[in-house]
Amino acid sequence: MEKIADGHAVDPFRVLVGTMLSAQTKDAVTLAASTRLFEVASSPSALAQLSVRRIERLIYPVSFYRHKAKHVRTTSRLLLSDHGGKVPTTMAELLTLPGVGRKTANLVLILAHQSASNICVDTHVHRISNRLGWVRTKTPDQTEDALYDVVPRRWWPHVNRFLVTWGQNVCKPVYPVCGRCAIENACPRLGVTRVGR
Ligand code: SF4
Repeated sequence: MEKIADGHAVDPFRVLVGTMLSAQTKDAVTLAASTRLFEVASSPSALAQLSVRRIERLIYPVSFYRHKAKHVRTTSRLLLSDHGGKVPTTMAELLTLPGVGRKTANLVLILAHQSASNICVDTHVHRISNRLGWVRTKTPDQTEDALYDVVPRRWWPHVNRFLVTWGQNVCKPVYPVCGRCAIENACPRLGVTRVGR
């Protein structure tokens, strides 16, 4: 999710909406959907005026497109009514927006507001951190908490980017390719029962 829409990765509103659309959706699908949406409405005021049905058509086929269409429209309206049309800069405020959890909020703080004080934990970061033995946790939120204690601070905003790429290509969810992994000899492979080739 480094690149939400071509050439517009640092517009906080685009980062927020693009990140909301990205949940459980492949990056290429998210990028295409957010590009279609932003061609029609690229600001909170423009998006707030679209019908949910129109947003659904623009963002399809992202997963849960009906929920996401409602959430991005309501979020746009809340940005206008409660935040002066701007994307909030604090975790507490971001979490009041519909469809925004810690993962999305952390990514928005890192990518849109250049925060160096956040770690964004998604399923890849959670899984790989546990396989490597950096943490022993059951949920992504627990992993986020634990990572602040074990990851050197300068790496906090970069953890997501590196481990997501790692998780998509090498340390895959079901069949991690341990035999081709550069850190195989240093990894305890905790919880790994089957490997791929
Ligand atoms: S050795 Fe296997 S489990 Fe460990 S990081 Fe590499 S791919 Fe993942």
